Amino acid sequence: MTEPNNKFTILGSSSGVPQANRCTAGYVLQINRHLNLIDCGGGVCSSYLRRGLSPLDVDRIFISHTHPDHVCELPLFIQMIYLAGRSNRLSIYIPDEFVKPFKTHLSAVYLIPEKLPFELDIRGYENGFVFSEDFTLTAIANTHLKGYTDILGKLNLPNKMQSHCFQLEVGLKRLFYSADIGGFDDIKLHLDGNDFVVMETTHIDLDAFFEFAPTVNVGEFIITHLGSDDEVSTLIQRARKAGMDNLTAAVDGLELRL
Ligand SMILES: [Zn+2]
Ligand SMILES: [Zn+2]
Repeated sequence: MTEPNNKFTILGSSSGVPQANRCTAGYVLQINRHLNLIDCGGGVCSSYLRRGLSPLDVDRIFISHTHPDHVCELPLFIQMIYLAGRSNRLSIYIPDEFVKPFKTHLSAVYLIPEKLPFELDIRGYENGFVFSEDFTLTAIANTHLKGYTDILGKLNLPNKMQSHCFQLEVGLKRLFYSADIGGFDDIKLHLDGNDFVVMETTHIDLDAFFEFAPTVNVGEFIITHLGSDDEVSTLIQRARKAGMDNLTAAVDGLELRL
């Protein structure tokens, strides 16, 4: 059953190459009046306000991985809710590898956690992490950052290449958010049985996707992380050619009812 106030809103549908008409990655999961921000790329704060959402209504933030188009506005988002007068705790779930550098960065930009008028509860998570309260979120590791293996080793950097998809369950509804992946094989076996699959299209083998997608039980595919209008219309044409009538291209502000 669909609850009238449960929805997943796309704040930013651009790929990592910023587009004039799209913000980069950001989503809001709304359960009744409670809001959860998922990823926080460029333009997300303004897009959030454009949807008429209050900065005081965010309970939690979840970040899939630390590429700038998914995390660059996180400090600004914290500043926005601070200046809106927040007093209750804010929980932020970020890949475990990011906890220490993020805390250092916050202090460097004068968002010193100890000085904020609310508790900033920064939690690291890893593959298999399950958040379960008014909805369930499961983090599923993917290979998106594995291409950095050589350079990280060579420079002896501490990065763990943590990148995750999120499986969301809201009541009986299921939504799979791919975030960024290494390839279609990362998500192929997770799609079946979802009402919505919000999927990036920058890093996948489109031939494999268009062959597989029509055979799997998914209510609606929403492609996101998009490039130019021409690239988007090519993708839509390919979907129609593959016989798919359950694929939609995301735009900023698109709402999915859960
Ligand atoms: Zn991205
Ligand atoms: Zn990425």
